[in-house]
Amino acid sequence: MTETADPNRPTDPAFDPGPAVASLETIVSLSKRRGFIFPSSEIYGGINAVWDYGPLGVELKNNVKRAWWRAMVQERDDIVGLDAGILMAPQVWVTSGHVASFSDPLVECESCHRRFRLDELPGAEGLSQTELRDPTIVERLGLRCPVDQGRLSEPRRFNLMFKTYMGPVEDDAALVYLRPETAQGIYVNFRNVRETSRKKIPFGIAQIGKAFRNEISPGNFVFRMREFEQMEMQYFVRPATAAAYFEEWRERRKAWYERYGVTPARLRFREHAPDELAHYAKKAVDVEYRFPFGWKELEGIHNRGDWDLGRHQEATGENLEYFDQATGERFVPWIVETSAGADRAAFTFLIDAYREEEVRGETRVVLGLHPELAPYKVAVLPLLKRQPAIVELCHRIRDDLKRDLMAVYDDTASIGRLYRRQDEIGTPYCVTVDVESLEDRAVTVRDRDTMRQVRVPVEGVRAYILDALAATHP
Ligand code: ATP
Repeated sequence: MTETADPNRPTDPAFDPGPAVASLETIVSLSKRRGFIFPSSEIYGGINAVWDYGPLGVELKNNVKRAWWRAMVQERDDIVGLDAGILMAPQVWVTSGHVASFSDPLVECESCHRRFRLDELPGAEGLSQTELRDPTIVERLGLRCPVDQGRLSEPRRFNLMFKTYMGPVEDDAALVYLRPETAQGIYVNFRNVRETSRKKIPFGIAQIGKAFRNEISPGNFVFRMREFEQMEMQYFVRPATAAAYFEEWRERRKAWYERYGVTPARLRFREHAPDELAHYAKKAVDVEYRFPFGWKELEGIHNRGDWDLGRHQEATGENLEYFDQATGERFVPWIVETSAGADRAAFTFLIDAYREEEVRGETRVVLGLHPELAPYKVAVLPLLKRQPAIVELCHRIRDDLKRDLMAVYDDTASIGRLYRRQDEIGTPYCVTVDVESLEDRAVTVRDRDTMRQVRVPVEGVRAYILDALAATHP
């Protein structure tokens, strides 16, 4: 079904390594069964396009966000963090162009009244932006409703921003938007951050946070949601250097996914055609992943020119130029943006880590997650849960471990089942306490990937696990 990773593969657009799992259903059901991701408001019948992260999912997603923050802020001298509000002055979205043009082409079936995103209809994939705006396109291509074959309307633009009202009066003067991207929070704070951090160009501002889009056709599990999280970084540079930084960042961002274990052959770049470019972009490339439903965007890298700061400067009359004390130059910085989805990244790691193996005639499901992303790092398991001394030793070991990392205790099945369960949720190490442990003060540490077991003295377990994890540190 799949090929092994080949980082040196030819950059042939027709190259297809196949997905890591044949059916998305495998991941959806694992997520539900093991507590990664649940449909939101499920006992009320659910709400479309919103998903809730369960006990394991929240750990995975937090670890993804931490890994991103580490690469984008912690390890960099030139990037600082920010956490701006979800609600912003409504004028921000007029200036940014979102009120006028953050829209998708929508068509409606005249008989069943279902609505579709034109560019996702069978027969309309790959249309250019100009064609998607052509009022005759539906008729010319003979497109019909995919559900009941009804006639479809002409495309119209549907704005994806959620609206709400701020304060006790619900009128137009109180209208605010739920941010559809985190980037604008960075632009409007550019001067505050630069002045307080005293960073010199080139420097970046990074932010992780919720974004909301009233997507016409959400779907494919957490791939496209109406409420999701973004991890965005805006890198402010001299205009003449933007093209070079764009190249640098696209390579660096692709390498980040590989560093955390995504099969290199299932990642590729796709450059946007000139008529596909967003209103702000000079150049854009997507990092794409081979999902079970095809090659799709994982992250966007954009050269935004001086569009953002230039527009905000013009709209507010505030000076957002950068002054270079060394050369005496003043200019509006250009921006190279890396824009990733935390949910889409977590989803990708989950899919790419999934594997099924034959072990002694049985199928073993393993989530080969990078240890840093794994929800739990260690499970402490008793061989005999009816022996109080064994259980007590388990708790002592777990208490010792949990000061440093996520460690769980589980005694709800036989040891074989407990191992399988931890394999299936990606726990890199299991520590098992048996009868002999009470005598020799040693326990068994089992490795998820090799299934190799080693005997480690009780007092040395913590150091053994921490060293093993440190060795996998990318
Ligand atoms: P698409 O073409 O898939 O609608 P986009 O080009 O509008 O995506 P961007 O605006 O570049 O996406 O957003 C940056 C990143 O945010 C995406 O690469 C993706 O990881 C994430 N993202 C965007 N929309 C959603 C969504 N509806 N659900 C989950 N993640 C999303």
